[in-house]
Amino acid sequence: MGHSHDLFAQAKRYIPGGVNSPVRSFQSVGGEPLFFKSGQGAYLVDEQDKRYIDYVGSWGPMIAGHAHPHIIEAVTHRIKHGLSFGAPTRLETQLAEKICQLMPAIEQIRMVNSGTEASMSAIRLARGFTKRNKILKFAGCYHGHADSLLVQAGSGALTLGIPSSAGVPARIAEDTLVAEFNQLATVKALFALHGEDIAAVIVEPIAGNMNCILPQPRFLAGLRELCNHYQSVLIFDEVMTGFRVALGGAQGYFDIKPDLTILGKIIGGGMPVGALGGRSDIMQCLAPEGPVYQAGTLSGNPIAMTAGLATLDLVTAPGFYKTLTHLTEQLMSGLKQLAKQAGIACHTVSIGGMFGLFFTEASTVATFEQVKQCNIPLFKQFFHGMLQEGVYFAPSAFEAGFVSAAHSEKEVAYTLQAASKVFSTISASITCSSQEIHCN
Ligand SMILES: *Cc1c(COP(=O)(O)O)cnc(C)c1O
Repeated sequence: MGHSHDLFAQAKRYIPGGVNSPVRSFQSVGGEPLFFKSGQGAYLVDEQDKRYIDYVGSWGPMIAGHAHPHIIEAVTHRIKHGLSFGAPTRLETQLAEKICQLMPAIEQIRMVNSGTEASMSAIRLARGFTKRNKILKFAGCYHGHADSLLVQAGSGALTLGIPSSAGVPARIAEDTLVAEFNQLATVKALFALHGEDIAAVIVEPIAGNMNCILPQPRFLAGLRELCNHYQSVLIFDEVMTGFRVALGGAQGYFDIKPDLTILGKIIGGGMPVGALGGRSDIMQCLAPEGPVYQAGTLSGNPIAMTAGLATLDLVTAPGFYKTLTHLTEQLMSGLKQLAKQAGIACHTVSIGGMFGLFFTEASTVATFEQVKQCNIPLFKQFFHGMLQEGVYFAPSAFEAGFVSAAHSEKEVAYTLQAASKVFSTISASITCSSQEIHCN
């Protein structure tokens, strides 16, 4: 009976499922979540004082590592002057200006409090701008939990969407069309049927909520062309990829300009933040300038802006992404090699400080269907084995992983050493159970 077990039992008494966001519950890997009490650099410390190398990074924001002195100092200084005013501060303009300078397709930006709020507002804005109702999303992409986005494909690729959560009215889901990531033909087919009604296409330019899937060479350009042709708004959800894969996000990396961009995570440095930005002519439709209503009591909060600005100070340092990319590649190629040596089929992906690890025989993973076919039981074994060794990966086979600037070759070396042990244990158990089969 560990401390976390008791804390989880208490939490469940007062909080549904004991967590404030479902993936934290360990439901996809089995077992119970750890309760953490502190973070420092690349490490998290649980309530029993066990230290873990952290590859979750609060699901993305902690690109500088935990409790980075520059960010903590900025926030500590700022906090003495008040927590919230609900009135303009110069910090909001500073962060807005900085993001507009760094993200190629953002001319104006509005701050909100979460990625969910940003995507919900971006969709309303696209609908208000185009005066159309339908939106098109991709199976396996996640954009937060707004009603119109909790939608899955109906039976047959060309039918209207159906709710993927209880509580979402079918009438709302019907305005969401669902296509397949990296399969432009499925998008073309939906445009051919509904093109004049499609307000927006929303996509993670690198899918990070079904493990980590890179866009195939012509995919994003194809979306851009279709949106141009049908005059639909192209929305890149860069909540995860913004300032994670490169300074200009995925749009900079692949050189494709969306009309609107959704941000979050890193731009808040660990504070609750989201943002939507893009073409000024579209952004000008937002209240008070235009007819699309959107508001927030705590939006542009001074502490959150300060944490975001301090984080962007760090990521704009020369060579930041080069070092991060190199280290992430080193981690992934090491894991792949060790798995191979242990006879475990494994495919890896990395871009900037983001990675994907797939237990599969396939040499590339490009679609949601392929992700679903990966060996999930094997991932669970790997996850728990690594956790035992003091390495914390995301507790789900459908999440991307993250390396921070606080990670170094030392943490990567330790991780690989731990993985080597875990892979040989897994490999021994596979051999053993196949021998049992032979015996019968
Ligand atoms: C995390 C995430 C969101 C949701 O952001 P929240 O702040 O959790 O609401 C939206 N889109 C993507 C791509 C994300 O990774």
